[in-house]
Amino acid sequence: MNTFTAARRLPSTLLRASQTTATTAATASCSRTLALGATRSFASEAAEGAGSVSFKLSEDQEAYQDLARKFTAEHIIPVARHHDETMEYPWPAIKKAHEVGLLNTHIPEEFGGPGLGLMECALISEELAFGCSGVQTAMEANGLAEAPVIVAGNKEQKSKYLGRMTEEPLVASYCVTEPGAGSDVAGISTRAEKKGDKWVINGSKMWITNGGHANWYFVLAKTDPSAKATKSMSGFIVDGDSPGIIKGKKEVNMGQRCSDTRMITFDNVEVPEENMLGKPGDGFKTAMGAFDITRPLVAAGAIGVAQRALVEAIKYAQERKTMGRPIIQHQAIAFMLADMAISVESARNMVWKSCWTKDQGLRNSYFASMAKALASEAAVANADRAVQIFGGMGYNKESPVEKLYRDAKIYMLYEGTSQIQRLIISRQIEEMYKI
Ligand SMILES: Cc1cc2nc3c(=O)[nH]c(=O)nc-3n(C[C@H](O)[C@H](O)[C@H](O)COP(=O)(O)OP(=O)(O)OC[C@H]3O[C@@H](n4cnc5c(N)ncnc54)[C@H](O)[C@@H]3O)c2cc1C
Repeated sequence: MNTFTAARRLPSTLLRASQTTATTAATASCSRTLALGATRSFASEAAEGAGSVSFKLSEDQEAYQDLARKFTAEHIIPVARHHDETMEYPWPAIKKAHEVGLLNTHIPEEFGGPGLGLMECALISEELAFGCSGVQTAMEANGLAEAPVIVAGNKEQKSKYLGRMTEEPLVASYCVTEPGAGSDVAGISTRAEKKGDKWVINGSKMWITNGGHANWYFVLAKTDPSAKATKSMSGFIVDGDSPGIIKGKKEVNMGQRCSDTRMITFDNVEVPEENMLGKPGDGFKTAMGAFDITRPLVAAGAIGVAQRALVEAIKYAQERKTMGRPIIQHQAIAFMLADMAISVESARNMVWKSCWTKDQGLRNSYFASMAKALASEAAVANADRAVQIFGGMGYNKESPVEKLYRDAKIYMLYEGTSQIQRLIISRQIEEMYKI
């Protein structure tokens, strides 16, 4: 895709800004000045003929990154505290993101989306989460619900359910976890039974992001409990207004408080047979296959938090003085900042590698799990270090880092805990290094 193709897809409201960026991108240095007065480095200029490995972003990628950065500065950062305090669902930001083309970014062009690669989506996710990871999670959850449809849906399903997401600002949910089964997906008990030309779903799903607002749900249910675990489940698209869907209360979480998380109960919910994704028994594969798309993007969100913690900590360390000098000049603080920068850069590289691998059409589960584990732990560690650098002020709601501290932790839990990522990686290395 050339710059002008990308620019045509960019929203008209922000087109001029992105065109400017695209024009200047070729001469831009690796450092870029940001909102909050911070400078972030993302990529080094690749020398001509330096070989096939390059960390230089293309002009299109720079344009999308810049668009998301401007959007975040204008529409997320100013309202982040309000949404954290009130837990109000971020509809205004979601609607605006839809308008400017920053929602549902990996829906293929054929179904009305911009059809961006995972790498472009990751650049956008990082920028949005830099502003508020609660808002970004609400937006990203659409990607999670859509991924099984992208992976296993037929043309009609994609056209109907992905198509409508691009036409109006809607949200959707991915329903796999249950009160009794999170990491142990094989242990779910939600049932779908065939009755005539319909499937009837019964069971409860827990911690469902966007659950209270979803236009439709991806639901994993057991269709043949007697089959081996990985063949016992099927995936369904369930319309949000289907009779029998009971929405639980909005859960009050530690962080990312504006993101809507609920228990969703399916009480004899009838689903037409054409809403099954793939064949009976494909559900586990579909639900897990979605993670190859979504884990790198969740990881990119975590990088946004880790980067924000670094930016805030550097700024404070230059302003705050003790013993006659800015605290950044105390080696203990300077080294903490260096460790934060190491965390961000190394995790970002792994996110990019996992995206690049997928964009090459290669299986990326191994790198996706590494990216998810590394980036979520970078977010948690950096938020912790930032609070430490702020001293007592870091413990107070007036500081920007108290929210980051609460927001970061979820990254080590949802879309597979850090332990589950290590389980996936370790199983793979056992295969790779068989003696
Ligand atoms: C805010 C929020 C939003 C969420 N959004 C969604 C959503 O949209 N859709 C959805 O389907 N789910 C969602 N989840 C659920 C989330 O993915 C699960 O909470 C997560 O997978 C962990 O499952 P669990 O809570 O049942 O913990 P458990 O599986 O009970 O795990 C408890 C602990 O044991 C560890 N553990 C478990 N098994 C093993 C093992 N084999 N080896 C080593 N350690 C192990 C875990 O790492 C964890 O530390 C969300 C959760 C939260 C909190």
